[in-house]
Parts: sequence; C-alpha cells; structure tokens
Amino acid sequence: MSARIYYTKPSITDLEIEYANDAVRNGWGERCYEYIVRFEEAFKKHLGVKYAIATSSCTGALHMGLAALGVGPGDEVILADTNWIASAAPIVHLGAKPVFVDVLADSWCLDPVKVEAAITSKTKAILAVHIYGNLCDMDALLAIGAKHGLSVVEDAAEAIGSQYKGKRAGSIGAFGSFSFHGTKTMTTGEGGMLVTNDEALYETVLTLSNHGRARNQPTQFWPDLVGFKYKISNVQAAIGCAQVERLDELIARKREIFANYRRLLAHLSEVAVNPEAPDAVNGAWMPSAVFTAESGVTRERLQAAFAAENIDARVFFHPLSSLPMFDAHKQNHLAWDIPGRAINLPSFHDMTLADQERVVGVIAKVLTAGRAT
Ligand SMILES: *Cc1c(COP(=O)(O)O)cnc(C)c1O
Repeated sequence: MSARIYYTKPSITDLEIEYANDAVRNGWGERCYEYIVRFEEAFKKHLGVKYAIATSSCTGALHMGLAALGVGPGDEVILADTNWIASAAPIVHLGAKPVFVDVLADSWCLDPVKVEAAITSKTKAILAVHIYGNLCDMDALLAIGAKHGLSVVEDAAEAIGSQYKGKRAGSIGAFGSFSFHGTKTMTTGEGGMLVTNDEALYETVLTLSNHGRARNQPTQFWPDLVGFKYKISNVQAAIGCAQVERLDELIARKREIFANYRRLLAHLSEVAVNPEAPDAVNGAWMPSAVFTAESGVTRERLQAAFAAENIDARVFFHPLSSLPMFDAHKQNHLAWDIPGRAINLPSFHDMTLADQERVVGVIAKVLTAGRAT
C-alpha cells in the first residue's frame, strides 16, 4: 500500500529544537519569561498590531477577550453555524448564548445579512471566524457593529497568513485570537495569542490573564478580581519564536500547496475550493473541496475512497447547531448542507506534488462514480 498521507503535521527544523533546548536548559528563574516576551514582540511585528498576549490556547484567548468586553450571563454572541466548538465554548462558559447564523456559499463564513437579522437587545458581540483561512466580509460586519453598537471580534486561528484589503486577519476587529495547536500553520504544540490595538482592552486582558493581579498592584499576591490562568510556557514560546522567524516561509508553502490543488482541480467544474478575492490573500490553512449537489458526491463516499487509498482526509465542520447541546437551526441551510458534500484536503508543509496528485486522483475517481449513478 502507498505511504500514508497525513492531513496536517507541523514543520519542525533544527531552529525550533535549538530554541526549545535553550529554554529547557537556561530559561528558568530570572529568565523564565524571556522567550514569551520575544514571541509576543515578534508576533506583534508580523501582524502589525500594538499589543499581544501569548496564551495556552486560542480557546483561552477568546475566553479572556470576550470576558474583557463584558460578555456575561444573558448576553448573546453571534457567530457562524459552520465552526469548531472552540469558538463557541468560551461564550457558553461566560454564561452567554451563542447565536448561530448561516454562512455564505462561497466563503463558508458569516453571512452579514443573516447576522443583522439575528441582532436582538441582548446581542453583545459578533464573532467573525475566518474559517479554513477564508476571510469574513469584515467591512460589512464592522458596519453592522458600528450601526448597532456591537463589538466585532476575530477568531483568526485558521487565518495566519490571510489578508483582508491589506490588513492581516486578526488585526482588524476589537481583538483577534490565534491558535498554535499542532494542526495549525504555525505551532507551539499547544498555545495561542490574543492581539489588539485597544490599550484599555489589553490592560484588562493582561490583568485577567494573571489571575486578576494588575501589573501596577504594589501588594504582592493581591488579585483585584477573579481572573484566568491561560499562560503559555517559556519552552512553548521558544518553539513559537522559531516558528515566527520561519512564518513567511510556512505561509508561502501553505499557499503553494493551495495553488497546486487549485490548478489540479480546475478542470473539475463540480468542485469548489477555498475562495480568494482579488483584494485578499488566503493563508490556505486548510484547502477544502465542496462538491455541487448535482455531482452525487457525498462525504461518506469521499471518506471511504480516501481511506482506501491510505489518505487522511477530514470531514468539513458539522454545523454547531446540530450538536446535542444546542438547539437545531436547520434554517441555516448552507451550514447544514455543505458538510454532506465536502472534505478537507491534506496540506502539511512537507507533502509532495506527487502526494497532491494522489489526493486529486481520488477526487476524480469519486466524481466519475458519482456521475455513473
Ligand atoms: C483550532 C481552533 C481553535 C482552538 O484553538 P486551541 O488553541 O486549540 O484552543 C479556535 N478557533 C478556531 C477557528 C480554530 O480553528
């Protein structure tokens, strides 16, 4: 059988190993924050933002950012039904209610018309998640936010490398969150980042992130409020420093893999891949293929065909409102319909063009079988 093709796997070089070794050997005592500070500075520079706080996860960054905005019991936060649970869980943990709306057919991100229709007197914020590296319509969402007095925040965990009208994803809303989980474009194993240009929000999150201890509090061990503990470690940050140094290269490789898929799939009119508007850059974290309903291609057939070829392909996100802990919103037609005729394609940095051709070969075969039925 042919070698297994993984859907994602980090790109680790001697540089990451060197920094991690140094952190393990020397990064203690007085030096226990050195890589963390350096990591935050480098990430700020990459993104073009004023403030950054490294965290243990994107989920933690979102939890603190939403808490800092005052999201609490009785509030509602609007987000797309097409999402990973990590974007919704912090809303629930804060006692607020996630309100799931449908997505756009091409970007699989929030439909601004549906967002505005979902606003109530309880709405506190709009959470724009740039799914699979595709960009939300930020101008429309920011205009809706301004009109109704709501914060627009960005979960850019999947959108490192994505740019909206010259601005990097995550740098546009009230705050942005990132994930450095092992499946993401850049990794620290587990880890995350909150970024913002809002000084007051930054100070609030900084205090929250240190168990409620303000940095200007002169009394030792004196929390002023009940905060959180979502810090990154110096060893993880050391890996992050190496990954940020290599970030342009990591993004370029993701985009190259995406461009290859686009080229190899261009002749198959039944398949749509991630969009890239003329004034946007797609960071291409997760190239995905969505098939037309008429093609007869189903998720189950795709999964079986990829498994038979020893290829690790992932299912498109189930609508969050289909999960047992939420109310079903079947009127979110696209979010409910697309996953049944879609698949995420393998895209780890070190895959070869021959690997990609194998993936596309499976797609072509499934399409032929679909046409025959
Ligand atoms: C991966 C991911 C997260 C969760 O990140 P963690 O670092 O694992 O908490 C959150 N939101 C989105 C959109 C993600 O893709």
